[in-house]
Amino acid sequence: MALKIWLDGKLVDTEEAKISVFDHGLLYGDGVFEGIRVYNGRVFELDAHIKRLYESAKAIRLTIPISQNDISLAAEETVKANNITDGYIRLVVTRGSGTLGLNPFICKNGSIFIIADSIQLYPEELYEKGMRIISATTVRNHPLATPPQAKTMNYLNNILAKIEALDNDVPEAIMYNHEGYVAEASGDNILIVKDGVIYTPPAEAGALPGITRSIVIELAKEENLQVVEKNLTRFDLYVCDEFFLTGTAAEVIGIVEVDGRTIGDGRPGPITNLLRKKFFEYTRKGE
Ligand code: PMP
Repeated sequence: MALKIWLDGKLVDTEEAKISVFDHGLLYGDGVFEGIRVYNGRVFELDAHIKRLYESAKAIRLTIPISQNDISLAAEETVKANNITDGYIRLVVTRGSGTLGLNPFICKNGSIFIIADSIQLYPEELYEKGMRIISATTVRNHPLATPPQAKTMNYLNNILAKIEALDNDVPEAIMYNHEGYVAEASGDNILIVKDGVIYTPPAEAGALPGITRSIVIELAKEENLQVVEKNLTRFDLYVCDEFFLTGTAAEVIGIVEVDGRTIGDGRPGPITNLLRKKFFEYTRKGE
């Protein structure tokens, strides 16, 4: 189906949605982005995503040329123009068109484009049986390099980790930080359960502050589950009772094997299943 893409203030056909080859987003991965779900015609947690977008932009000294309110309206408009009731929004702000030099301040206005489309989820079977995962050797961004908390267009480390996963016939890989602590998966946050307590690495460990993770933590607290943010080691992952990932696309998905070690009894555990169900209901409420 032909899509309408929102590009710098206008809805245009896909074929017209073009970015300059001099755009620093393309030349250097210089820009920021968000991935946002649409459930039942409603854009999920739009404000939280927009806030993270502007914070990511601030961290890399990128001025987004329109206000938070206007970009939110543009996202809503793109969803409506494409009749998306359940889908995914990709919102990208690039540094804009510049020269072949690195200097970002030569770039004119940042370019904004918004794509609203359907979404490819993991197959249902993977949610029921759980996913196998491996540890990547590619290290998550150092805090003194591109900040790992910023969602920038420079995802090459994560892509290298993803390649490691795919080389091992699994869909995801765990990324560790430069100190050897668990950071996150290549495109999802990590949570584990040990003796009834949920543990997850803090943002300082190199995790993107996931919006799904924050909602799942709230839902867990509603169930009187204890949630502790602390540094986790590979050993903690190997010996945990339950393990799951959270993310906009994946939602909540159980992990049943890490680097050849079976987690729990080899099936997604009860807390994982409970939170998956609660998250499902929370996102589809009012349907
Ligand atoms: N970590 C990384 C590296 C990601 O790309 C994502 C997906 N945006 C997440 C974690 C999960 O974050 P969220 O729940 O906000 O989608």
